[in-house]
Amino acid sequence: MRDRSESRYAAGALSPQRRAADLRRLREERFDVLVVGGGVTGAGAALDAASRGLNVALIEATDLASGTSSRSSKLIHGGLRYLEQLEFPLVHEALRERGLLATLLAPHLVRPLPFLVPLPREGVFGKAWHRFYYGAGVALYDAFAGIVGHGRGMPLHRHFTAHGARRLFPSLKESAVAGAIRYYDGQVDDARFVVTLARTAASLGAAIVTGITATGLVRDAREVIGVEVSDGTDEWTIHARTVIAATGVWSSDVSSWLPDARIGLRVRASKGVHLVVPRSAITGEVGLILRTQKSVLFVIPWGGHWIIGTTDTEWELDRAHPAASAQDIQYLLAQVNAVLERPLTTEDIEGVYAGLRPLLSGESDSTSALSREHAVVEPLLGLLLVAGGKFTTYRVMAEDVVDRAARRLPGTRRSGTAGLPLLGADGWHSLWRDRADLARRHGLSTGVVEHLLERYGSLIVELLAMIDARPDLGEALPGAPEYVAAEVVYATRNEGARHVVDVLTRRTRISVETAHRGVETAQRAAELMATELGWSPAMMKEEVRAYRARVKAERESQRMPDDLTADAARTMRATPSRGSTGSPDPARA
Ligand SMILES: Cc1cc2nc3c(=O)[nH]c(=O)nc-3n(C[C@H](O)[C@H](O)[C@H](O)COP(=O)(O)OP(=O)(O)OC[C@H]3O[C@@H](n4cnc5c(N)ncnc54)[C@H](O)[C@@H]3O)c2cc1C
Repeated sequence: MRDRSESRYAAGALSPQRRAADLRRLREERFDVLVVGGGVTGAGAALDAASRGLNVALIEATDLASGTSSRSSKLIHGGLRYLEQLEFPLVHEALRERGLLATLLAPHLVRPLPFLVPLPREGVFGKAWHRFYYGAGVALYDAFAGIVGHGRGMPLHRHFTAHGARRLFPSLKESAVAGAIRYYDGQVDDARFVVTLARTAASLGAAIVTGITATGLVRDAREVIGVEVSDGTDEWTIHARTVIAATGVWSSDVSSWLPDARIGLRVRASKGVHLVVPRSAITGEVGLILRTQKSVLFVIPWGGHWIIGTTDTEWELDRAHPAASAQDIQYLLAQVNAVLERPLTTEDIEGVYAGLRPLLSGESDSTSALSREHAVVEPLLGLLLVAGGKFTTYRVMAEDVVDRAARRLPGTRRSGTAGLPLLGADGWHSLWRDRADLARRHGLSTGVVEHLLERYGSLIVELLAMIDARPDLGEALPGAPEYVAAEVVYATRNEGARHVVDVLTRRTRISVETAHRGVETAQRAAELMATELGWSPAMMKEEVRAYRARVKAERESQRMPDDLTADAARTMRATPSRGSTGSPDPARA
């Protein structure tokens, strides 16, 4: 439970001292709810349970958001394409969540982003049909979000002529568009969102500990009373009245601990690859949503970059390090080049990342057709498994699974998350309004303050205090001028970062936003972290070496022709093998 004498910000700091205290709690306490998995679903479940006043712990094998939750398209969306599949309740629910996040829960992290639906040139009848068909879809999308009221959180759609479309997106090939419709969806830095969720749960008293892997269940007859865990050197039992496994594509591993795996959840992994290119490679003010043969392709403005994705192919190899192959990259370039005036080449690519969709196993063979809906099962008393869904609907998944857990915990309150702003949301609007003044007062450029406000919300005051005390922390990081040194220190002191890779790939996105992929920043990041974490020179050197080896393996994998060879290169195995499916690995996230 939270110590009321402490401020909410201080209580939500995932500091090294807090980690040591939470580790002790994991050995000593019996929790009401123990969550396994620190992706958006697990962090959401921990927050939901903590919002009901329960005694909560969350363990994560690697780092917060190190699985799928840092590798998404970073959209908080209803999913325009699901309208075509007539998944109306799913779209409606996601749009309701989108509005809640953008207006109340996380306006500092989720913001509106305009997208164009280009209408193809296909004769007079074709043109009219496409405008009617897509126009009806987008109008329905808006209607589901609520036509009026502040809860929508996004502007309404608008139609454009071919000329208007090219004004908004000059890089669109003239021959490719007969017009367009602009609509809005939400954008989020997925990994930062998960860290903020976890910190909000911590601010309500939840113990949040990364680098702890669940290895088995502890049972008393048919009832689960805890889990066996390991931190790599030590093994022990964490006791809990209920255990929630929110382990994404690792859900089948948890099911394999059951007396009969068929009573657990079966989850398939579908790989989605994204490319990151500099903003200068494409001229446009809005995003694009393009139809592909199997699904859709997004071209998404992302600060000084574009994110282009995604693919959708079955993946049965290493789940901890899904690898993008040259084939994936060529596919994405071919799709996007079909509509671009100046084609992109591999030379334009700054970063590449791959993630695995946790899809509930269905009868269909095609991963694109598998359901995005979530499932909650209770295969044994006291054990709940939750998986599927999507980032946007994490709060609904969390509420569902904790409702089920609460049946075993008499007197539990209802979920409070629909009215609980995440850390950094309170006061964000007024800070944003006064950002120029804030910048002047702290001797920073308005650009730096905007960057910090969009990543930390009102928690920016903590970073500004650090910069006031040590002005060198206001300086840009080597090789990553968009970021300041204070972000590395803050990640280590307040956001639970324990390795250089945590900072360069998840607390910041330097690993995909720079052509050197963070290699030029790793040494400085390690130096800043070493002071906070008491690393010896040898430990610091090893952190930098491990990061560089990771980048090298990723680059190598992206030159390989197919999944099998890319996986072997990424996991640094000598020969391709379908044998290893990769448990989350603390050392190599
Ligand atoms: C390419 C792609 C694009 C996407 N784009 C979007 C989008 O734009 N919008 C959207 O709404 N959704 C999107 N999604 C879906 C969304 O990202 C996922 O549904 C969501 O992130 C899944 O979160 P999760 O917490 O269930 O799983 P994960 O994030 O994978 O978390 C599971 C965690 O459990 C941990 N774990 C596993 N086993 C153990 C163990 N034994 N002990 C301890 N910890 C363990 C793992 O390390 C991992 O961190 C996308 C998905 C992909 C792949």
